[in-house]
Amino acid sequence: MLALPEVETIRRDLDRELSSLRIKSVELLEIGLAKRSGGKKKFVGRLEKAKITGVRRRGLYLMMGLDTGEVLVIHLGAGGQLRRHANRDEIEPNTVVSLTFTKKGQLRLLDQAGDVECIVVRADKLTQTIPELEIMGIDPLDQPVPWRMFGQIVLAQEAKLKAVLTDDRVIVGLGELYSDEILFAAGLRYDRTPNSLGPQELRRLHRAMVEILHDAVKHRGCTLEGSYYVDVHGVPGGYAEYINVFKQSGRNGRPCPRCHRAIQKYRYRRRWTYYCEQCQI
Ligand SMILES: [Zn+2]
Repeated sequence: MLALPEVETIRRDLDRELSSLRIKSVELLEIGLAKRSGGKKKFVGRLEKAKITGVRRRGLYLMMGLDTGEVLVIHLGAGGQLRRHANRDEIEPNTVVSLTFTKKGQLRLLDQAGDVECIVVRADKLTQTIPELEIMGIDPLDQPVPWRMFGQIVLAQEAKLKAVLTDDRVIVGLGELYSDEILFAAGLRYDRTPNSLGPQELRRLHRAMVEILHDAVKHRGCTLEGSYYVDVHGVPGGYAEYINVFKQSGRNGRPCPRCHRAIQKYRYRRRWTYYCEQCQI
């Protein structure tokens, strides 16, 4: 699954590149994708001739506003890619939708892992059509969250810290990688319970979250081996070299940058959590 910094990187590019472009034609190559928009004919008809007014984001959902009062909502899942192309470029395998604009080429949606969603929705029916949009936690890249408010939200949780950070209903879209990096930067173990945290620790956790998310956007997201993430021009994200703990255990991993001991991994809630035994307490 792409995380918040990757989706925000894509959103910023799309907003800059597509705002005020008009869709001339739509090619739908994966019929099943149109199911939630009323079938292929409706999907195409609702998009053709529409002008894109801007690209916003709600959690990991990209929302392309249209001048028809509708919204094209896209969730990229783990293997979705949105790519700018010239009209004459060869269609790559796994391309599921191609939008041709009246000028400035195309936008193509690729689905490399079979988990992309793409829905045309009336703007006033968003949460009725996509109920997932309603159950979302705080989004620090969309709206700054003061640390006191962040502290209250975290303290209200009973699960352990790693589970709190990866819960989209608490904080949206951090995923495994950014959660592990945030806990390392804050010096906190994955299995701490929120009610054991003092004010200084909550402050550190808040600062680590904000800094890491903004750093990751600055480096245009993270593309690890085996990840499908690329930006709209096909360029991988550059954050991988700034990773401290995630997937750094074992022989090929980098040691902890603070204490130079090997990074540990622990199987927690069916996923690996990476941390430094020495520096995270
Ligand atoms: Zn360490």
